[in-house]
Amino acid sequence: MAETISSSENALSAPFPWQGAQWTQLSRAFAVKQLAHAYLLSGCEGLGKSLFADGFARYVLCMKPIVQGAIGGLADTAVACGSCNNCLKCGVGNHPDILTIEPGEGSKNIKIDQIRRLSEFVIRSSHSGGAKVVIIQDAHLLNANAANALLKTLEEPNDNTHVFLVSNHPGRLVATIRSRCQKLPFVVPGADIAASWLQTIIGEGNINSILEASDMRPLIALQLAEGGLLQDRAQFLQSICDVKAGKKSIQQVLSLVAKNGELEVLQHFSAFLSKLTKYSLTGIIDNEGDPELQSMYALLIPSKEKSIAQEVASSLALLYTEVETARRQLSSTTNPNPQLIMESILWQWSKLNLH
Ligand SMILES: [Zn+2]
Repeated sequence: MAETISSSENALSAPFPWQGAQWTQLSRAFAVKQLAHAYLLSGCEGLGKSLFADGFARYVLCMKPIVQGAIGGLADTAVACGSCNNCLKCGVGNHPDILTIEPGEGSKNIKIDQIRRLSEFVIRSSHSGGAKVVIIQDAHLLNANAANALLKTLEEPNDNTHVFLVSNHPGRLVATIRSRCQKLPFVVPGADIAASWLQTIIGEGNINSILEASDMRPLIALQLAEGGLLQDRAQFLQSICDVKAGKKSIQQVLSLVAKNGELEVLQHFSAFLSKLTKYSLTGIIDNEGDPELQSMYALLIPSKEKSIAQEVASSLALLYTEVETARRQLSSTTNPNPQLIMESILWQWSKLNLH
């Protein structure tokens, strides 16, 4: 029988408040020995899918699961205890019954050698006598050979082994692999859930504007709050202003974009354009707390004339639509060319008449 603890003690292995439904679905299946051989955990970046997979793997192996209390409005949730032998091995990242596969350092692919290790892992017996779990992070980065090899493993499932594929771009996975997996989609949580979670982590602060800047993705919001991404965003916005002022070329901005990731950068750009549009029409600045952005707006749009302001606003709105389309393309099932898409957006931005 599971014992109850306070919600803070086991934060590492517990699902986030917006993952209650997914956790319940899997843990119920596990309780009646109906856990599927393969799951595809999908959804945009910043929802904690990888941590969910890791936490659930720990729960599956835990010898004495505990009840965490209600999560996301659902009934009591059982999670890994964090202190049994298996949990201690998981805690230091070397439980022999969990295999995590991800693109190697500096590599943009998951290669066939890594999937061969997976095939060996699947057929050998469990060290702890229970289930074995494989987690494939960024599964859309499996190269063609690796995908074929994985497919063979998925076609001959081992009763005792469960594979969790985690992906921000499930559409890029080959259809034959997708069809072998049960789908476990994750969605952006409601503002209330995201805000109250963020507040418990960072305390008081500009919670709403951080969430807005992160498109309501809680873990991106946390990164923003902790500063790393704020710096990247400031650097990118400064560089697009430099393009406008003729101080930087589009090529220079493209190399910065490649470093930070196109989707992330387009998200910043989209939020920036939406605020700039509002500013051009009303003169109101949304980021009162951000003096750098204020001076950017004023520099970019010096005119206060109403007729000009409306023209500027419609051009900005058009570009905003283009950026949103680009974001969809980049997350879509087709095989987009991020650099071409980015180049076209930056070119349109450089040609935009803001005066
Ligand atoms: Zn345990």
